[in-house]
Amino acid sequence: MSYIQFLGAAGVVTGSKHLINTGDESGKSGIQVLVDCGLFQGQKEWRERNWADLPVPAREIDALIITHAHLDHSGWIPRLVKQGFAGPIYATPATIDLCSILLPDSGHLQEEDAAFANKQKYSKHTPALPLYTMQEAQQCLTLFRPVPFGQVKRLNDQLSFRFVRAAHILGSAFAEVTLTNNGTTAHLLFTGDIGRVRDDCPGEVVHCGPTEGEACDVLVMESTYGNRVHPRDDPKPELAGLIRATVQRGGSVVVPAFAVERTAKFLFMLKELMESGEIPRVPVHADSPMGIKAVQIFLKHEEEFNDETKALIAKYGSPLEWPSFHFDTTQDDSKKINELKYPSIIVSSSGMVTGGRVLHHLVHRLPDPRNLVLFIGFQAPGTRGFTIKSGAPEVKMLGQIVPIRAQVAALEQFSDHADTPELLQWLHTFKRAPKQTFLVHGEPDAASQLRDDMVNDLHWNVQVAAYKQKVQVL
Ligand SMILES: [Zn+2]
Repeated sequence: MSYIQFLGAAGVVTGSKHLINTGDESGKSGIQVLVDCGLFQGQKEWRERNWADLPVPAREIDALIITHAHLDHSGWIPRLVKQGFAGPIYATPATIDLCSILLPDSGHLQEEDAAFANKQKYSKHTPALPLYTMQEAQQCLTLFRPVPFGQVKRLNDQLSFRFVRAAHILGSAFAEVTLTNNGTTAHLLFTGDIGRVRDDCPGEVVHCGPTEGEACDVLVMESTYGNRVHPRDDPKPELAGLIRATVQRGGSVVVPAFAVERTAKFLFMLKELMESGEIPRVPVHADSPMGIKAVQIFLKHEEEFNDETKALIAKYGSPLEWPSFHFDTTQDDSKKINELKYPSIIVSSSGMVTGGRVLHHLVHRLPDPRNLVLFIGFQAPGTRGFTIKSGAPEVKMLGQIVPIRAQVAALEQFSDHADTPELLQWLHTFKRAPKQTFLVHGEPDAASQLRDDMVNDLHWNVQVAAYKQKVQVL
């Protein structure tokens, strides 16, 4: 019997981990492959799962297939390696480039958080330990093996797979997995995260439109926005208005943003608004230790861009050379931003305010009503970003209670995830109905709403996946 077991992102948007076990005739375990190996983020109940072992010993997992570089899909890799996993990690070349900066940075942030917790003595655990260190994350990079889009990779007689475009972020892929046993075959499709379907999605840089015309027996699909419709209007006028108003009242703008790709996309938008005179030329700080590397990776993978992004790059070149755009790589650079008395725009990670330098900027600027905190990405429930965005009067950060007096705004147009109408539109391109569909990577409301919509619209057999649920697929 071959089965899939959901070891994360079941009933929640983070911690994606789906185990495939091919079994064999003697009843012994066959090849075991984990599709995605993400960190749980957000609510404590989930974050604590990062410390639990998998039901399968790490050394018995033969390989990893990673759909894309976001930490909720890749950030648990160093932990798995620390526990004894030593197999190959398959990903697209751009995903490997992104992981090579994201994973060590994640290790660094965890070391920083643990050190800070020990210094402030606010952790319940003494001493607070990092889940993994920067060095441990660095070491696991040697296990990565590039698999270009469209190339079939055979792991053994029973399992092969290929990546096709998911159009979510740079390098993002669906994994089409083929299982064969005793002459029978099953096609599984793991979507990872699904990008915007339509061509009119503002802020989208990668190829618009995930791969269409899929045909599979088992579909494991994300449902982040299973109960949402994104606004379709151009975010630039609203963005310009918010920045102008903030600068006029002498405030600064803090934008929590995912350091890779999202920050670069946002910088291009700011540059365009400055060049056209729609916003004043105030200093822009991309405050991220990996800011420069992230921009370089972004520019290196031009083959992934849509025409609008190619045109922007041709027009403005590298953000690293723009006057008054600063890439702050050291902690001293970062601290100097806190001393700035004149208005500026600070783009800093992490995007959901779960860690990183954006914490210091927010501690400093949230109490002042002249400032603006602008969200341009998804905020998972339980994260500080979610708390701030939902209008809370205060938030706990770095061991202190910080009053929220700054203006808080969010632009939803930047989403890299398809919304419900886009997901249904994409599903309609399938050549046949999957025998079984499992929804993962969604809050319970979003996943169950999407299940109902799919059943009504497509009449498919759809379930919301449960944590540790095992599903026979062959
Ligand atoms: Zn993602």
